[in-house]
Amino acid sequence: MISGTSNDTARGVVVGVDIGGTKVLAGVVELDGRVGRTARRTTPGRRVVTSRVEDALVAAVLEAADGRPLAGVGVAAAGFVDSAGERVMFAPHLPWQGEPLRDLLADRLGCPVGLDNDANCAARAEAHHGAARGAASALMITMGTGIGGAVLLDGHVVRGANGMAGEFGHMQVVPDGQACECGRRGCWEQYSSGNALVREARALMADQPSVLVEMSGGAPEQVTGPMVTSAAEQGDLVARQAFASVGGWLGVGTANLVAAFDPEVVVVGGGVSAAGDRLLDPARAALRRTLVGAGHRVVPLLVAARLGPQAGMVGAALLVSGDQVRR
Ligand SMILES: [Zn+2]
Repeated sequence: MISGTSNDTARGVVVGVDIGGTKVLAGVVELDGRVGRTARRTTPGRRVVTSRVEDALVAAVLEAADGRPLAGVGVAAAGFVDSAGERVMFAPHLPWQGEPLRDLLADRLGCPVGLDNDANCAARAEAHHGAARGAASALMITMGTGIGGAVLLDGHVVRGANGMAGEFGHMQVVPDGQACECGRRGCWEQYSSGNALVREARALMADQPSVLVEMSGGAPEQVTGPMVTSAAEQGDLVARQAFASVGGWLGVGTANLVAAFDPEVVVVGGGVSAAGDRLLDPARAALRRTLVGAGHRVVPLLVAARLGPQAGMVGAALLVSGDQVRR
């Protein structure tokens, strides 16, 4: 007899794992998206032998499963995953280069393993259990240090010929604009991201009074994203202007994506999205202002992600649980 809401059937538990540059987070994920027992490890780093990272991953999975058999393990990796979902081609904070992680883990864990990048997994999770629930076509924009993203069209995550679709952060929005770490100029994430928020606030506080001066001990280089969020909540005008700028650029880039993909909903996740409407209201205004044909079409909803830091784990589990298919 298979229970309606539990993955903990005769075939065992499904574990989702999210591996990033700082931590490995594993959790038993139920069919309804709820997360049960979790376990975490520190990511060993990028200058270690790859097996050490895999050891940490396996240890976190086994601790989360707590002795129960594994029905499947899904892995959300912060890096480029090939279009077949077999290998991590490159990850900025991990030692993997073309690592055949899916089969390697399947051998070590003795169960089916699914693999995709973290943004694609988060999009799946939001589409099944979160802010894009019920939408067949949705975009996920993840605003952290930079911008990541994913495209869900007609119920499928679009992975592209090389598994690299959805790297929205490096779309050029300003010709000859701000230099980007990727070596080019004017990339979207230079104007709308955690880094952009901080840079904007630092520039504004140079010639306007702001609580950020006190919060940073008078050193603009000490200003952080959470400080700007906190200052904005206190009504600080510099912080609010920084959010208005970053939010406005979020809307401009989103309008380009909506013109290309025509989604029902655009979900904004990542650390910066914790600011909620302070970020999203200027983005919605800019989206309506700049979207082609805005007066003659349904402008998609622009909403904050619901699943927070568990999204990668929950979406990874969907790669291997029951009737969910990975494409
Ligand atoms: Zn770039």
